Amino acid sequence: MLSDSSAPNTSTENPAEITRRWERRRRYFYLVVSLAGIPSILAVWWQHHADNPFIAIVYPLLILAGLAWSAALLWPRIPLAWIERTVLFIISLLFLSKLVYLLFFTQDLNGVWAEVEAVYWVFVFILVIGYIALPRRLALELSLLLLVATSALGLWRFWDGPSLPGIEFLRLEVRIAGLSFLLFVLARTKDEFNQTLLAANQMHRIAHTDSLTQLPNRRGLNHLLEEHLTRRKPFTVILIDIDHFKLINDTFGHESGDAILCQVGECLQHQIRAGDVLGRWGGEEFLILTTEEEAHSALHLAHRLREAVEAFEFSQGIPVTASFGVTLSCEQDTPINLIKRADLALYRAKHNGRNRVEWEAP
Ligand code: GH3
Ligand code: MG
Ligand code: MG
Repeated sequence: MLSDSSAPNTSTENPAEITRRWERRRRYFYLVVSLAGIPSILAVWWQHHADNPFIAIVYPLLILAGLAWSAALLWPRIPLAWIERTVLFIISLLFLSKLVYLLFFTQDLNGVWAEVEAVYWVFVFILVIGYIALPRRLALELSLLLLVATSALGLWRFWDGPSLPGIEFLRLEVRIAGLSFLLFVLARTKDEFNQTLLAANQMHRIAHTDSLTQLPNRRGLNHLLEEHLTRRKPFTVILIDIDHFKLINDTFGHESGDAILCQVGECLQHQIRAGDVLGRWGGEEFLILTTEEEAHSALHLAHRLREAVEAFEFSQGIPVTASFGVTLSCEQDTPINLIKRADLALYRAKHNGRNRVEWEAP
């Protein structure tokens, strides 16, 4: 088992943690976009509010929306998904209304064509953010909504017959339709990739976890052992074996034996630090890797663990004790000889009467 060096990392993040981190990053990103965007909207308003009624009325609303958005982003109790949906919807509506204004209420359409194109760039931005932030189906609905709305406006405006702006408008439509399709395909690939990653993560966790105690199993422990050895810093290995466990099984039944295994795991877990590793080495044996670097502190911990097991109130009042083999790692160690030393100490603890701690020097 010790040769299982290809096992992947046991310390994988759980999916909820990954989602939270991804959400936090999105909040920061939107905040930066929002705070950078507000001065530029203000500058455009300042320059054009006298000659452009759309800018004069709508841009102050946009600034207010930006400020409200920033405040909402800073308040973690407002769900990010809700903010994203609301903002994308409001911005889509605002820029659709700008398109209506440009197409139907300006005298010289050619003169404001650059602005029509700018509106389409905003739609592109909305679609990209939509496919990043929203569920794929919702992003698809948003892109279809924009396509239908802009096509309807174009048809209405250029119904009279072919014209240069009409052809240019068609070009913009085709471009945004193509981009929507591309984004949809990319989003689908991303979702499939994420699902595969999630499944692989789950399989990895199952392969490295003991199904009874939910502690790392031997494969997981071997991997962590190798990881500890690469740090080139001494650490303590404690091998623990429950005394007369066969007798417990025979007397109280296999189910009670299983319950005792879980309770020994819980008891030991309570005694070690958060960064230490506790796993089920196999059968009724547990393994602990701790940062203790010296013999006396390692032995002190092992004695404390032994006392804790002995004093623990196990179900049905079953008396349980365990034997402990302790050793320290050294530079030349491989996982195999490190465990061999701990096993040797454990064997001595059994031989010398059980319910005791023995030490094997590196
Ligand atoms: P010692 O004090 O020398 O360690 O004696 P022992 O009886 O604990 O050791 P032995 O190796 O003779 O027996 C270990 C027993 O642990 C035998 C096996 O059936 C039992 N065992 C191993 N895995 C499990 C498990 O997952 N659940 C239960 N209930 N028992 C298990
Ligand atoms: Mg055993
Ligand atoms: Mg035993």
